[in-house]
Amino acid sequence: MRIMRAYKTALNPNSQQRGAFMQHSGTARFVYNWALADRIERYEAGDPTNLYEQKRRFNALKDEQFPWIRKTAYCTTEEAFHHLDTAYKNFFRRVKLGKAEKGFPRFKSRKRGIGSFTMRGRIHIERGRIKLPRIGWVCLKEKGYLPTNGAKILSVNISERAGRWFASAQVEMDIPDPEPGTGEPIGIDLGIKTLAVCSDGTTFENPKPLAQQERKLKRLQREFARRQRGSKNREKTKRKIARCHAKIADIRKHALHNASYHVTAKTKPSTVVVEDLNVKGMMANHHLAKAVADASFGELRRQIEYKGQWYGVDVVVADRFYPSSKTCSGCGSKKPLLRLSERQFVCEECGMIIDRDLNAALNLASLANGANRETHGDCLRS
Ligand SMILES: [Zn+2]
Repeated sequence: MRIMRAYKTALNPNSQQRGAFMQHSGTARFVYNWALADRIERYEAGDPTNLYEQKRRFNALKDEQFPWIRKTAYCTTEEAFHHLDTAYKNFFRRVKLGKAEKGFPRFKSRKRGIGSFTMRGRIHIERGRIKLPRIGWVCLKEKGYLPTNGAKILSVNISERAGRWFASAQVEMDIPDPEPGTGEPIGIDLGIKTLAVCSDGTTFENPKPLAQQERKLKRLQREFARRQRGSKNREKTKRKIARCHAKIADIRKHALHNASYHVTAKTKPSTVVVEDLNVKGMMANHHLAKAVADASFGELRRQIEYKGQWYGVDVVVADRFYPSSKTCSGCGSKKPLLRLSERQFVCEECGMIIDRDLNAALNLASLANGANRETHGDCLRS
């Protein structure tokens, strides 16, 4: 089976290569900003442009106006145009969905860091080094981590963080076709207080450092509000907030990997049933909790989907209107109302008392079975 995967690893560039990295990052930033300014200008002039038309005009004038761009690999320019195009597409998608945060593309500033650049084309990997267009062989900090056997490198993003350089490679490679999973289907219920509850009884708590970081974030946000606009200290706090957000995302992602590993590779069920993206979001009225839960849901879905593919597990998404929380997993009767504060599900029909989240997970799991496929057939989509 042919799959796509990303690998991120630290680089060990020499000083000349560091210089080249800076130069390429500069090109990527410049081209991105040029393309963004050009789009805005064209839009305001009533003559909107697009990716290909823009690239053509840029290539026609770059040798005369920006001759230094020739010092960097052509693919970097090319990729910067594509990045902006993607940013625009994401913006339009959010507008269409009516999201509060539209996220119009922003100009990249050197003040916000060196940034990154992407390369595509003639990229080669050996055990201890990677060959990049124009830059040549760069040493890797960790030998043998990037795949070499029959793997095709689609693109590499080179980025800097706190003085260290990293390569993130998109790789296409073959893995053995997995044996289809044979275990009992598993339903997974994602929550805000508890990260996830699986129908086999396994519970994934939110990691402790997460709560610590969230408290820290709140403190920093109060600090930010106190600081004078335009002051150095306000800028400092802003950077701290960004780092805190990144840390929280990392911790969550890690925890989600645990859960997605459990419901795929570890237990090898025939099917995993996950809820649709918006269910939990609608339940939570707290703004931050909602945003976090949405993001977790998306990331968990993504992880379960690709791991399901790797390990031969069917992944099914329950319809957003399937009442997984309000239905009794014992007898199938439905409650008209279930308050968020009710942590136990008490069935008035059959008398079953069960943890609310486990009940929801069991209901999701049952959607994978033939019996319920008939009754809730329209609740399923693959
Ligand atoms: Zn019941």
